[in-house]
Amino acid sequence: MQKHNFNAGPCVLPKQAIEAAIEAIRDFDNTGIGILEISHRTPGWERVMAEVEQLWRELLNIPDNYAVFFLGGGASTQFFEVPANLLKKKAAYLQTGVWAKKAAKEAKFYGEVEIVASSEDKTYSYVPKGYTIPTDADYFHITTNNTIYGTEIHEDIDSPITLVADMSSDIMSRPVDVTKYGMIYGGAQKNVGPAGVTFVIVRKDLIGSSERKLQTMVDYATHFPEEQRNHSMFNTPPVFPIFVMYQTLKWVKELGGVEAMYKRNKEKAELLYNEIDRNSMFVGTAAKEDRSLMNVCFVMAEGKEQYEAEFMEFAKSKGMVGIKGHRSVGGFRASIYNACPKESVEALVACMQEFEAAHK
Ligand SMILES: *Cc1c(COP(=O)(O)O)cnc(C)c1O
Repeated sequence: MQKHNFNAGPCVLPKQAIEAAIEAIRDFDNTGIGILEISHRTPGWERVMAEVEQLWRELLNIPDNYAVFFLGGGASTQFFEVPANLLKKKAAYLQTGVWAKKAAKEAKFYGEVEIVASSEDKTYSYVPKGYTIPTDADYFHITTNNTIYGTEIHEDIDSPITLVADMSSDIMSRPVDVTKYGMIYGGAQKNVGPAGVTFVIVRKDLIGSSERKLQTMVDYATHFPEEQRNHSMFNTPPVFPIFVMYQTLKWVKELGGVEAMYKRNKEKAELLYNEIDRNSMFVGTAAKEDRSLMNVCFVMAEGKEQYEAEFMEFAKSKGMVGIKGHRSVGGFRASIYNACPKESVEALVACMQEFEAAHK
């Protein structure tokens, strides 16, 4: 049976990226040696590193005054590397979910943290609005998409101070104006590749702005030496995850870039949200205006709660994978990242309709 993969991350990747990865394990770049066995100083690999940085710059329109590099450690490591590199005295955080809260917690090791607003009072089911960004903070940190709760900040906000964004789960899903941000980072495993590589985009003048003495690996300057070509190559980079990310970005480009992804993503999300709103068995959990295009959260409607386990079984029997909601929200979550095909969303919608018909 065909499986429809709605996992929240790691998650579905483009078929052609997987095929290219399989081939590269056998033979990388016609060297007769597989990618898992090559040196990262191989010229063919240095070319991939240069091209993957170039693809990031091209797809997101990243200007030359920004550094782009790739690290290990996941987005969670950036939770402390961001304040280590950028925080002098005080940082401001918007608490829109558990990831945002975790990021703020790490910043407290380096200075004062102001939580500008939080939606914890309603299980993070909305994005707070009407808050004031303190101008005496070194930066304002946001999480653009809240993977667990299915809310998203849909526009690039105007910030009077340096804006830092964790874009782990919506990077490359819509166009962003990079110049509005001082820094953008995230784990690759939701929209741009497999687990094991973290992307960092940071305005060059911010590197070293905390004036703190930093361990070599924590210091962003280490990973983007101005004078060399060897970005992200201070130590051994996560070669294989970067290769799969490279193939994933090539696929994004072939399909028409981030604009085309945005169009596809809006279509998929609309299809699913329309069904949730129409179907008498289900109800969405996120505030409508803040609904995420990436993670669609829903629960059984009032009076239908007893059918939750039955729907889960039914969906499974139809090939749906990974739709169980996060334990803090319950119900269901369908993650419909860039590489999730529209056919999968259509299959889930059909499944919901069939279930409703069977319980009328
Ligand atoms: C998944 C996720 C993280 C955690 O990423 P790791 O790479 O596992 O550390 C952080 N922030 C957001 C928004 C996420 O979705």
